[in-house]
Amino acid sequence: MFEKLLVANRGEIALRIQRACRELGIRAVMVYSEADKDARYVQLADEAICIGPAQSSASYLNMNALITAAEATGAQAIHPGYGFLSENALFAERVIEAGLVFVGPKAETIRLMGDKVSAKQTMLAAGVPCVPGSRDALPDDAGEIRHQAEQIGFPVIIKAAGGGGGRGMRIVRTQDELESAVSMTRAEAQRAFGNPAVYMEKYLQKPRHVEIQVLSDAHGNAVWLGERDCSMQRRHQKVLEEAPAPRIDRALIAKVGERCARACSDMGYLGAGTFEFLFENDEFFFIEMNTRVQVEHPVTELITGVDIVREQIRIASGERLSFRQEDVRFSGHAIECRINAEDPTKFVPSPGCITTWMMPGGPGVRVDSHAYAGYVVPPYYDSMVAKLIVHDTTRAQAIERMKSALAETLIKGIQTNVPLHLEILADKSFAAGDFSIHYLESYLRGDH
Ligand code: ADP
Repeated sequence: MFEKLLVANRGEIALRIQRACRELGIRAVMVYSEADKDARYVQLADEAICIGPAQSSASYLNMNALITAAEATGAQAIHPGYGFLSENALFAERVIEAGLVFVGPKAETIRLMGDKVSAKQTMLAAGVPCVPGSRDALPDDAGEIRHQAEQIGFPVIIKAAGGGGGRGMRIVRTQDELESAVSMTRAEAQRAFGNPAVYMEKYLQKPRHVEIQVLSDAHGNAVWLGERDCSMQRRHQKVLEEAPAPRIDRALIAKVGERCARACSDMGYLGAGTFEFLFENDEFFFIEMNTRVQVEHPVTELITGVDIVREQIRIASGERLSFRQEDVRFSGHAIECRINAEDPTKFVPSPGCITTWMMPGGPGVRVDSHAYAGYVVPPYYDSMVAKLIVHDTTRAQAIERMKSALAETLIKGIQTNVPLHLEILADKSFAAGDFSIHYLESYLRGDH
């Protein structure tokens, strides 16, 4: 096992990784930008090192600064967390070249899955069901594109092969809009991701977002840890997640989960990963794979008892998974609310000093947060200040537990989306498990 590991991230996930390291007896080196010097994990750190100014490009995205920090402190491994450089194949390569361990899959796997066209091709070959669509990136020939769209059937969605963060997508409802939509998405993809390749998929009208968590070690052991429903989204950003996904046949999920685990074995996948699916009319359709730990991993931890971050680090150090598929037991229901520093109705970020910070507790309540009373939420990064996660025996009880936990949450000085979470939890369709990825936005428009 490593003696020292550098955490190349910030916010709640930096604290989460620090906790896992402490339990494993690893010294965690925390990095911080000038804007993050007062974060909780920096104050708690065995060792902390400033890597640059507030701007992410000069700090958390600065490969040289991170690798130099690891070398200077004698860290043997780098955990990238999520976001920032976590899915950057070049960074993984540079970490390896520096003689360090990257906590995640091999660079070639990150590259393969980072291109959504090659990711889908890999999944099709492994028998994982995908959204019907173009097999390859779209050609230049307009006639050929038209032909493919007719075969798939309108509406279709044009997506950037290198896309991420919900950007670089365009829905096309008729033949007339097709050509301009393809060229606009291409231009956008080139600008945003430096890769103009786009592909086409059937646009599913009312799907849910259901994803499968996997862990895979270097000894050929791959397991799946159930699913999460992340359909409550605004602008393709997840707001509230839960596990298990309501109202889906367990046998169907097991079938897809087994395929995902097998796909991991086939490609020699290393570490934690997530297969994202759209789920419609009792069918799963793969859309992409995330080759890192997800924000919403705690709901899976609460229903399985598996510490995903600890397993990630153990796998990276060359150890075997500490359990087998047949040891995985699912128990109860978990819900996570992402608490953001933002206006709950207009969604504009609300950075600033937190004057009151009273977080809930009690049985089955978990809070993952780097914030505290007196902490200043910087304006430079993602607005998430905490994750509130609850666990209880049934979904209905977990909803009640979350309502109670949110009622106990008292945050002043900044605005948060706690009121929005309370509204979602009180909603009849949510309670019935009857919603799609469009539900929250239509709710916010007042359609319900
Ligand atoms: P990103 O990497 O940017 O997150 P994804 O491929 O995961 O892109 O898609 C993000 C979101 O876009 C999905 O969760 C879903 O809401 C929507 N989406 C993507 N593909 C489709 C599709 N074929 N039909 C309907 N919605 C889709």
